[in-house]
Amino acid sequence: MNEYDSKRIADLLIATQEFELTDKPESADFLILNTCSVRDKAQEKVFSELGRWRPLKNENPKIVIAVGGCVAAQEGENIIKRAPCVDIVFGPQTLHHLVDMYETVQKTALTQIDVSFPQIEKFDHLPKHQADGVTSYITIMEGCNNFCTYCIVPFTRGREISRPVESILDEAKTLAAQGVREIMLLGQNVNHYHFESHDLAQLIRLVAKIPGIDRIRFTSSHPKYFSQNLTETFRDVPELVNHLHLPVQSGSDRILAKMHRGYTALDFKNKINALRKIRPQISISSDFIVGFPGETEKDFEATMQLIEDIGFDTSYSFIYSPRPGTKAEKLTDDIPLNIKKKRLKILQATIYQHAEKISQGMLGTTQKILVTGFSKKNSDQLSGRTENNRVVNFQGDATLIGQFIDVTITEALPNSLRGTKKNSM
Ligand code: SAM
Ligand code: SF4
Repeated sequence: MNEYDSKRIADLLIATQEFELTDKPESADFLILNTCSVRDKAQEKVFSELGRWRPLKNENPKIVIAVGGCVAAQEGENIIKRAPCVDIVFGPQTLHHLVDMYETVQKTALTQIDVSFPQIEKFDHLPKHQADGVTSYITIMEGCNNFCTYCIVPFTRGREISRPVESILDEAKTLAAQGVREIMLLGQNVNHYHFESHDLAQLIRLVAKIPGIDRIRFTSSHPKYFSQNLTETFRDVPELVNHLHLPVQSGSDRILAKMHRGYTALDFKNKINALRKIRPQISISSDFIVGFPGETEKDFEATMQLIEDIGFDTSYSFIYSPRPGTKAEKLTDDIPLNIKKKRLKILQATIYQHAEKISQGMLGTTQKILVTGFSKKNSDQLSGRTENNRVVNFQGDATLIGQFIDVTITEALPNSLRGTKKNSM
């Protein structure tokens, strides 16, 4: 979501015709840090980056520094107290005010803070989404009402609000007209999307009808809202990839209840089984939190059992990080750090083994990939992605960029695959 927001901030500034992007902080007039506060470590990185920017501002006081995103929403003016080089603090829902805030700083030299959650949607105030390649994100909803006991998102991104269907379809059509072939629909609870009579399943069907959009992904779903209707969309909409990211967090019902997740491990398994009846090959990735307060060895074993039962492909897994203002922050964090680290290592090693096995199983198979550009390591080669999100490098002509082609997988490396091109489609 932050990547999407950062992209839209760039679109906003470029549309004024007064800015262009630079990736060198020392040559910038306006430095913007978009931040994440989901874990403490991400938050601390903000202040270390600002520490690196401070000397630039000392040298050239005309530089304007802005901090946006969830740390900004959470800390507000405290950001400026702790880092006085900052001129602007804006939240995830006020990024469309950034140009006005910049101009006010230029005119008055006064700091500007706006971390409110205005009812009017930022999307109505953003310019055309400029495509950057053949895949693109589209945020379809903002905020979250779930208040999982460990999570800061409902406090920093505000209450859940879904974008109008027409506004999303317009954005998707604008992107398709610029050559985008794959769309990732984004939301904190993307499968809780609802606008008037439309849910995510209906929205996906409409996006799939847009000429040029031939691949659709969505993230992050919440298991509680993963409906039969959405499962059936996987049967009816071939544009939906054979991959689902469904964060489970834990395999222990006791911990899931303490996290306020609203499902059991069995509910989760039942939903995946129903989906696998329709798409036997679907790969499932997930999020895990290790070392939630009170997690016993038995709770952890239940998580490992679920990992075996489901055969997760990849994961985003982290040690629990207490977040200010959340319910879990008040629980006694009673697990020693070395135990948390050990559990995380075991969990990640197991999922990594699964991923390796899945990659090995792809050897010799034909995979449909979307060719996204040149290979990062070898610019003589092209690179594309399979439905289950693996990078495939192969020999091919640059005219294939932006096309779906069939490749035969010839080699499975730890972080990518190699293949040979069959026929283009
Ligand atoms: N809304 C999605 C869901 O409920 O599955 C996930 C959004 S959350 C911003 C992304 C991931 O960060 C979560 O799935 C969780 O694993 C992780 N996370 C959130 N709060 C955390 C915390 N306090 N400590 C560690 N990980 C956390
Ligand atoms: Fe955070 Fe996701 Fe829970 Fe919302 S549903 S509170 S974003 S973990």
